Amino acid sequence: MNLPQGWIFDLDGTLTLAQHDFAAIRRELEIPAEEDILDFIAARPVAERQRLTRQLDAIEHDLAASVQAAPGAVELLRWLQRQQLPLGIVTRNLRAVALHTLDTLGVRDCFAEAAVIGREQALPKPHPQGLLQVLGQWSLAPPQAIMVGDYRFDLEAGRAAGCRTCLLAGQNLWPALADWHRQDCSHLLDTILAGN
Ligand SMILES: [Mg+2]
Repeated sequence: MNLPQGWIFDLDGTLTLAQHDFAAIRRELEIPAEEDILDFIAARPVAERQRLTRQLDAIEHDLAASVQAAPGAVELLRWLQRQQLPLGIVTRNLRAVALHTLDTLGVRDCFAEAAVIGREQALPKPHPQGLLQVLGQWSLAPPQAIMVGDYRFDLEAGRAAGCRTCLLAGQNLWPALADWHRQDCSHLLDTILAGN
């Protein structure tokens, strides 16, 4: 493996065990099942929007306090950190929630705060804006970097930015979008170590 010089990660389900129960969040906030949560809230009248936003932020902070690392996530991040490679996060979470999650995992020191891009900092994936922001901070050309995620939007954002892409999932549902496919961070680290 030609080791990428910059590593951008999705957060939920990539570095953490997936735990967002979106159905439960919709029930608690009384959002119809077919609606995108963020889009629904954004379209509400201002007072309701503010209330729902506060509720959603509280739910996400609660989740961040009890989050668990995905298999091999901490080891992968620490290995990359030891190589002095820059690490970033692009997530649909709030930046504050993402930082809280990284604190809970014990890996916040792996990331410069500016390289943690939440939903207030950039248009959501699959738009590449968040990735391009991070690459600009690092002065890296897109092909030197890799986007690692567990969902199609992560891969599409990586492609749109011109980065390499890695899908972490049991099955490769999007082979045309993924340069690499590994089951999880642990397998990805094994691959890296085998090539170095
Ligand atoms: Mg994800």
